Amino acid sequence: MTRVYNFSAGPSMLPLEVLEKAQSELTNYAGSGMSVMELSHRSKWFTDIIETAEAVLRKLMNIPDNYKVLFIQGGASQQFAMVPMNLFGGSKKADYVNTGSWSKKAIKEAKKYGEVRVIASSEDKNFSYIPEITADMIDPEADYVHITTNNTIEGTVFNKIPDTGNVPLVADMSSNILSEEFDVSKFGLIYAGAQKNIGPAGLTLVIIRDDLIGKAGESVPVMLDYKTHSESGSLYNTPPTFGIYMAKLVFEWLKELGGIVAMEKINREKAGLLYDFLEESSMFSSPVQKEDRSLMNIPFVSPSDELDALFVKEAKAAGLETLKGHRSVGGMRASVYNAMPVDGVKALVAFMKEFEQTHS
Ligand code: PMP
Repeated sequence: MTRVYNFSAGPSMLPLEVLEKAQSELTNYAGSGMSVMELSHRSKWFTDIIETAEAVLRKLMNIPDNYKVLFIQGGASQQFAMVPMNLFGGSKKADYVNTGSWSKKAIKEAKKYGEVRVIASSEDKNFSYIPEITADMIDPEADYVHITTNNTIEGTVFNKIPDTGNVPLVADMSSNILSEEFDVSKFGLIYAGAQKNIGPAGLTLVIIRDDLIGKAGESVPVMLDYKTHSESGSLYNTPPTFGIYMAKLVFEWLKELGGIVAMEKINREKAGLLYDFLEESSMFSSPVQKEDRSLMNIPFVSPSDELDALFVKEAKAAGLETLKGHRSVGGMRASVYNAMPVDGVKALVAFMKEFEQTHS
């Protein structure tokens, strides 16, 4: 059985080189006589792993010195709660932008902790576009503004990061972190579940500006306080050690490839192949407004549910896996994260062309 092209939205493909490197070190990591899974998180080997992971990530994303990098657990979903629990230190007001299902979940959770205002939404058009955010929409007293930079289910992306002035910008970057260049200094806090562009599920990355740490109230559980993880170098308790090790390998792979600039170029090429075909196709189309189309998650539809189902089934038989759209929107979705090779997208487009000829 050869490997398939897996278009899953997450967990998703990891670079083959990374999997092979992990395999080669699996039973005896760096002469320790143990696998990484068996190593103490306080051992010299693991210290080197977590420090290297952070150092390489800092270089890749050009993270300024006044930001902490935290390797924690709970997924992006836990950040939906940790962000308000930690950042509602002032007015207890926050501005949220509603661009899809994940934004909605973040909004719902934040409402438990303070006053949440939705300053813009694209729900009126099925989340098929990104609303414009201007400075005058933002409450200058808000403790933070929250956006979802890439909407995994709906396939939209913020191409312009809003300028929120002195109000810290918080971003759920789960599905496009490391895929294109971001100026970290524009954000107060960035969070991402690992299972798309970072590594295996179970690890969550938080990049947080120093002045936003230490604002949590007394009642916030120790594990949900950014300060706990910041002060202990993400080693307050046992962190997801194998996930951090895999993330280190992914960061090193990305660095080797030429960093985020090189990766973004490849991602634009991959997405371009698919979007160009969707423009010319007489069977398939994109439901997303052109200028807001994601490089990572590309939804598309055929004229009927029956054809959609047949497409997914036949694609699977051709080694193109997990193309069914999210259950909430239907149709198809190709997630083409960093680890998806250009050849995988070429194979998908070739298959779509063939399907169109056979079934029209
Ligand atoms: N936000 C976004 C944008 C996502 O894509 C996802 C997961 N697909 C989540 C949040 C939830 O992440 P997790 O499963 O890590 O809690």
